[in-house]
Amino acid sequence: MYVIIPLEAFEMNKYSSIDSLSVESNRMSTKRSFSDDQKITTDRIETHTRSVLDQVNTEKLRQNLTSLSKFHTRHSKSPLLNDVGDWIMNQLIGLGYKNCFYHFFNSTIDDKEYILRNIICNKEGFNKKLIIICAHYDCIMENKGDSNSRAPGANDNASGVSAIIEIARVLANENLQHSIQFVLFSGEEQGLLGSKSYSKYIEDNKMDLYRLINLDAVDYPFLRIIL
Ligand SMILES: [Zn+2]
Repeated sequence: MYVIIPLEAFEMNKYSSIDSLSVESNRMSTKRSFSDDQKITTDRIETHTRSVLDQVNTEKLRQNLTSLSKFHTRHSKSPLLNDVGDWIMNQLIGLGYKNCFYHFFNSTIDDKEYILRNIICNKEGFNKKLIIICAHYDCIMENKGDSNSRAPGANDNASGVSAIIEIARVLANENLQHSIQFVLFSGEEQGLLGSKSYSKYIEDNKMDLYRLINLDAVDYPFLRIIL
């Protein structure tokens, strides 16, 4: 979440680093000095960024995660995945996003043809440079081909989808420098089917992709250990 806001905030002030969260530390490290006007502007942006981050609501994150995990399964071969996709789409539209659509693609899974859907939701910025914030919404159990058993998939990857819905909520009324596209992929567990198909769509449509942030298994403890 922290990465998103500074991208446009720092760009607006033509700073080279998008990783630094502190304007002041950035100034110290590059030995640049700010004029009073610049300082006022950066202070204002930093204050606004913090106010947006403060809107992140852990209870809403929990509610999203619980709702997604309550679907019996989100296996890509299950017809229930259509219900999941509709639920996610309704959440985004309910937040006020009007430019949302399904990206359909054909895939073969276990020798059978399926029509799967990625979910795309656009937030227009001041320019066409695109930041994609994405996650897959399907899941599996130990037996990868089993599309009938209970599979809550809370960690992998209801956590990522839940975070994206919350990011979309806090950014809904923000004016951003770059355009944002929230993308939820299907068929990830069968070999990145959704993201491969959508990457071709990006190329075919010559979209100006600037950054991509993928959320998968958010805050998974094992990742904490290896980091
Ligand atoms: Zn995953």
